Amino acid sequence: MSSREELKSKVCDEIEARADGIIGVAQAILKTPEPGFRETRTSRLVADKFSELGIEHRGGLAITGVKGMVRGGAEGPTVAVLGELDSLIVPAHPEADSKRGAAHACGHHAQIGTLIGVATGLIGSGVLPFLSGRVAFIAVPAEEYIEIEFREGLRKKGKISFLGGKPELIRLGEFDDIDMAIITHTAASAVMRGRLIGTGGTSNGCLAKQIRFIGRGAHAGGAPHAGINALNAATIALSAIHAQRETFKDADTIRVHPIITKGGEVVNIVPDDVRMETFVRGKTLEAIKDANEKVDRALRAGALAVGGSVEINTLPGYLPMTSDRNLQAVYRANAVSLVGKSKVVPPGRHGTGSTDMGDVSHIMPAIHPYAAGATGTSHGIDYLIEDYRLAVLNPAKIMAMTVIDLLADGAMKGKEVIGKHKPLMTKQEYLDLMESMRKKEEYQG
Ligand SMILES: [Zn+2]
Repeated sequence: MSSREELKSKVCDEIEARADGIIGVAQAILKTPEPGFRETRTSRLVADKFSELGIEHRGGLAITGVKGMVRGGAEGPTVAVLGELDSLIVPAHPEADSKRGAAHACGHHAQIGTLIGVATGLIGSGVLPFLSGRVAFIAVPAEEYIEIEFREGLRKKGKISFLGGKPELIRLGEFDDIDMAIITHTAASAVMRGRLIGTGGTSNGCLAKQIRFIGRGAHAGGAPHAGINALNAATIALSAIHAQRETFKDADTIRVHPIITKGGEVVNIVPDDVRMETFVRGKTLEAIKDANEKVDRALRAGALAVGGSVEINTLPGYLPMTSDRNLQAVYRANAVSLVGKSKVVPPGRHGTGSTDMGDVSHIMPAIHPYAAGATGTSHGIDYLIEDYRLAVLNPAKIMAMTVIDLLADGAMKGKEVIGKHKPLMTKQEYLDLMESMRKKEEYQG
């Protein structure tokens, strides 16, 4: 029987020995960016890597997801290590593809490298027989909640039910056999201020909205009085949303950030079909609900002012993230052992973005730490991985060591984490909550 420390050093040695191949996976995916639910090539690459490693796996989950499973030498709980498959769409990014402008401007390609790194380390080092339980490796589709119209189309065709990958995998039952879930996201070195690992904290949840102002087309020069200008309705609605901002409480960290996805047809016709999308984000579900009602009011005001109408399609987004403290402590200890205490961000930060790891965190112990190694601004044209060792190898080693802590010694630690965790809701309560957020309204002004 090897000690946990011996197992950990074997796994880290294995990851180090295979470093080039592991980093190569991330770099290959950088060159084939694919937005959510379209990650076919990325998904195939993951499946091929799983096959090479001898991991039993299934693909086509929530369209492109891949889930592999390996077993330890004895029975025990199941830890899932996650990686996100999808890119963003940032046409001006230096690594954007020429067709759709897809680009890895959030570093998810590094996450897949990390996922393969954890699998490579745990399998290649031969430590699995010393573990009690199972490790699931899940490549998850569509973390970025984008292309709402396209995804609503998939939903209408019955291909998905939720517009994010993890909610969809939860619905499909792919988390039913998982007891704990971990992931590591990349972060820009400037944000990390010299530190290499952040263990994560809480983050905003969100609702998504698809909005369509309907007016009446007319000659924009000859007879604008005969039209109803849907773009004017939209701009009034945008101003009305801004007028709500002074009512948002700082503690609720509300973020409302609409975009116009269609502003009209041609310049000499009064716009009669103007479309917007927005998120309504906040720290708690109550705060999101409150802000959302204000946004709806503002949207109706736009339609009312011009005498047009508005269709408001509100969709469930992501739930606020809560990190399991005990699971976080295990990860943190391993981060400290790898990079040193001074290089690990103290826990407790609240992020105002959203992640569907928040959804997972409502039904089981989950964490969403960060690893440095990127440069630029997240989601910006300059977000690039500058140090793949930091962005891929460090989190792979820390997550593999975390798995060992959880499942070694008869999975004592893993069982303790599960035992101490009080889930915020059951899967069914989660699904009911998500369904309750759907709302379709047609308002005639
Ligand atoms: Zn991301």
